[in-house]
Amino acid sequence: MWRYLRDIGKGFWSILLSMQITLRYLFTRAVTVQYPEEKRELPTRALTRHVLTIDLESKDLKCTACDMCARICPVNCIYLEGEGKGKARRATWFIIDHNLCMYCNLCVEVCPFDAISMWTGQYELGGFSRTNLVYGLDTMTADGFYPTIMTPRPPAGAAVKAPAAAGAGKQERKG
Ligand code: SF4
Ligand code: SF4
Repeated sequence: MWRYLRDIGKGFWSILLSMQITLRYLFTRAVTVQYPEEKRELPTRALTRHVLTIDLESKDLKCTACDMCARICPVNCIYLEGEGKGKARRATWFIIDHNLCMYCNLCVEVCPFDAISMWTGQYELGGFSRTNLVYGLDTMTADGFYPTIMTPRPPAGAAVKAPAAAGAGKQERKG
């Protein structure tokens, strides 16, 4: 009998404890964000969609088609081709399949020229078809996009062209 009453008392006590925690959170500020009406500001180094960067002086793509990013990619979702020799070599064809990408950032870290970046803050990559998530040179090129926070910024008022929206101007995979 005594044990039975003790268990009932313990049950009530645990309910009171849990209600105490519920009451405490009832009067604190909600942390839920009403997405998509509200959007949280991402950290500067959040890994989002890729862009290929452009040299400030020559206005040319920095990518030399060295193939290092494609070779290090663990899921083989980068395909590229280039033309030219030495310093004049440039990518002529470059796609990243974001259906496969796992946002590991290895391709960015291995790039010797800061030619590719994932610090774009663009994380809304939804599409109605899988091909919408395959980005080509045209949709990844960002005129004036600065790959690192250490890179000099453009002068105030200078126009910066953001990369094209997802799905626009897809590049077909060759072969
Ligand atoms: S972030 Fe990782 S998985 Fe995505 S393209 Fe780069 S290396 Fe490949
Ligand atoms: S993005 Fe960088 S690592 Fe990839 S091919 Fe171009 S220069 Fe090489």
